Amino acid sequence: MLRFLAPLLTVFLCLPAQADSYITRLLNKPVPGGVAVVDLGTGAQAPKATYQGKPVLVVREQDSRWLAIVGVPLTVKPGSQQLAIREASGVRNLAFSVGSKKYPEQHITLQNKRQVNPDPADLKRIEGELAEQITAYRSFTPTTPSNLLLDKPVNGPLSSKFGVRRFFNGEERNPHAGLDFAVPAGTPIKSPAAGKVILTGNYFFNGNTVFVDHGQGFISMFCHMSKIDVKVGDAVARGGVVGKVGATGRATGPHMHWNVSLNDARVDPAIFIGAFQP
Ligand code: ZN
Repeated sequence: MLRFLAPLLTVFLCLPAQADSYITRLLNKPVPGGVAVVDLGTGAQAPKATYQGKPVLVVREQDSRWLAIVGVPLTVKPGSQQLAIREASGVRNLAFSVGSKKYPEQHITLQNKRQVNPDPADLKRIEGELAEQITAYRSFTPTTPSNLLLDKPVNGPLSSKFGVRRFFNGEERNPHAGLDFAVPAGTPIKSPAAGKVILTGNYFFNGNTVFVDHGQGFISMFCHMSKIDVKVGDAVARGGVVGKVGATGRATGPHMHWNVSLNDARVDPAIFIGAFQP
């Protein structure tokens, strides 16, 4: 049976994407921590869009419409948001609306108390590391991403979801900014799209960490790695290995933690692998 279905399936998958619904249908999840796909119309030149003062990823759909792929920060309140569009004729504002989403809580016990309440020397280190990582998230290159629908960096079950409000030893800390996969230590981590390595480091919370810039502010970050296999400046192919799964930094055991960022907003990676749950 599969013998007959396979060619049909191939034909189906090779059909051009249908009108402007394709990217929108798959990626438009306009909630805090989600993605808003905003139609910028047709035009010869790519419009330049900014959101909260930060440049936004703009791609061209098959039927030549321009779409802004906007990362909505977790901190945004539901309601109307403004995108600033710069065109030859000037700047115009385009409104889009953000809905609500309730994120669950998670309570975690850590034996290492310093990872809950770091001492002054740790705090100094953390501050520097944070600045370094924020700079990486804010980098913006003109490259168009090789793919917007991302490949899973590892094959394995999802464990902790994005956006979960986390309490370490009873104290609330930053919400979970990425998605965890339950996979054994040593599992190779593959880049979900082509890109360039813009930052690596060994950080207090994130442990061994790699940032891959997929283009136009679309950035993946992998952390808690046992081993980093790339260095800053390396070009990474889609599927190229960047390192191995580990439990370095603030981790209760080996797992793969993956952040996806758009316009310096951490968004739910599940959206890009077709696993988003409203
Ligand atoms: Zn995680």
